[in-house]
Amino acid sequence: MNKPSIVIVGAGQAGAMAAAELRQSGFDGRVVLIGDESHLPYERPPLSKDVLLQPETARCQLFADGFYEERNIELRLGARVSAIDVEARHVSLADGETLPFDKLLLATGARVRRLPLLDRLGNDVYTLRTLDDARKLRPVLTPGRRVVLVGGGVIGLELASSAIDLGAHVTVIEQAPMVMGRCSPGVLNEYLCNVHRERGVVLHLGAALTHARRENGEIVLTLSDGAQVTGDAVIYGIGVEPDTRLASAAGLDVENGILIDENCRTSHPAIYAAGDATSQWDRLTRRFYRRETWENAKNQAITAARAMMGIEPAEAGVPWFWTDQCGMNIQFAGDMAAPEWIVRGQMDESRFMLFGLNDGELVAAITVNQAREMRSAKMLVDKRARLAADVWRDPQQNLRALLNAA
Ligand code: FAD
Ligand code: NDP
Repeated sequence: MNKPSIVIVGAGQAGAMAAAELRQSGFDGRVVLIGDESHLPYERPPLSKDVLLQPETARCQLFADGFYEERNIELRLGARVSAIDVEARHVSLADGETLPFDKLLLATGARVRRLPLLDRLGNDVYTLRTLDDARKLRPVLTPGRRVVLVGGGVIGLELASSAIDLGAHVTVIEQAPMVMGRCSPGVLNEYLCNVHRERGVVLHLGAALTHARRENGEIVLTLSDGAQVTGDAVIYGIGVEPDTRLASAAGLDVENGILIDENCRTSHPAIYAAGDATSQWDRLTRRFYRRETWENAKNQAITAARAMMGIEPAEAGVPWFWTDQCGMNIQFAGDMAAPEWIVRGQMDESRFMLFGLNDGELVAAITVNQAREMRSAKMLVDKRARLAADVWRDPQQNLRALLNAA
């Protein structure tokens, strides 16, 4: 009997990790991993950080060179899947080749949301998603260069931090009244604004970009409050869109991401999806969530690989992600929309925690340069701990001990 065949579309973090997990869990059928980028699968977090700051030593490749061959994973790089034939159970590559599958994993990730107003300017306008994008950016971030960042989300702020480290003059334009509004609470966002300003970043908040033009070799941006910002280069990061094109064309259920259940299965029983491209059902809140984080891509990849082999998935833990900026490591766990936040420690010492409460229950925690506390903090969030506000506020309290008290 022929051994089963699993095809994975997208050789980013989710795709590569799913292929690795299939072999790790003992799948001995055919595994084909197809990616349209030319590099061996790599992680994106270093792109806005080490790849810019230490290009000679930065490492972002996920697995060593021989990894795929040793595990008999057929890696097709620089190859784009153009269609899925659900009935015939095969995928077509852009060059016309077809590959049969018994199970298919879509790990197509996300694409930069485009801003035609800026794209129209042509040269000196950049975005950051891929290793090639990061390599193009490195020569842009030089001492004295005036760099304008449009979008004050995670990309905008991480790039602002790296650009300042490299000696550039940095302006950030954010249309919302506050930076990082999509993924972090106001109390931390205000703190981050102050830290960036102290490092020399000029922040324009609450004003949208209305016009962009080139004048005497400079780029001139006009904002909705009438302000004008001039720069030598513009980098924009205004969010991403899940890449659902193949899934939609194949008739799978898609709504702000490829819809998947807790086992990462799509609306078709032989097709799974993982990573930034997905929106996953959460049994507890009875909602779909789209998460654009390293951890989510890893966890969904593992779940999908196991589910394709009929192995029960592990329980989902508290969602977690991190950002590194201005020399700080900041980690986030749980629900960042928590209505009440308590600070533990001194914010002006750049070493503190934030606890997010909802109706007295702990639903979120953030560590700033206190990574070692995150493990216990996550467990407390998982437990939905209830403790007096004074206890949360007190840096002398041992979080591990609190696990028993809560
Ligand atoms: P992707 O990494 O986007 O991979 C998808 C791949 O599929 C891409 O290579 C794409 O080209 C390919 N593909 C798509 N369609 C096809 C097709 N039809 N045929 C063939 N190939 C296809 N998260 C954190 O938690 N912490 C961080 O500090 C952090 N930093 C980040 C910094 C940057 C600059 C960026 C861009 C992201 C960062 N993230 C971070 C987010 C994290 O990297 C993503 O959540 C993660 O990469 C998602 O993985 P993925 O495999 O789902 O998608
Ligand atoms: P985000 O969605 O985090 O932030 C985009 C920001 O741009 C929002 O604050 C948004 O405001 C703002 N914005 C939207 N349109 C405009 C506009 N026309 N003018 C000015 N501001 C605008 O996305 P990013 O682009 O920062 O990041 C892209 C991806 O990379 C995400 O998947 C992210 O998770 C990932 N990433 C993650 C990192 C991490 O976790 N450490 C680091 C770097 C990237 P509004 O909310 O008002 O629309």
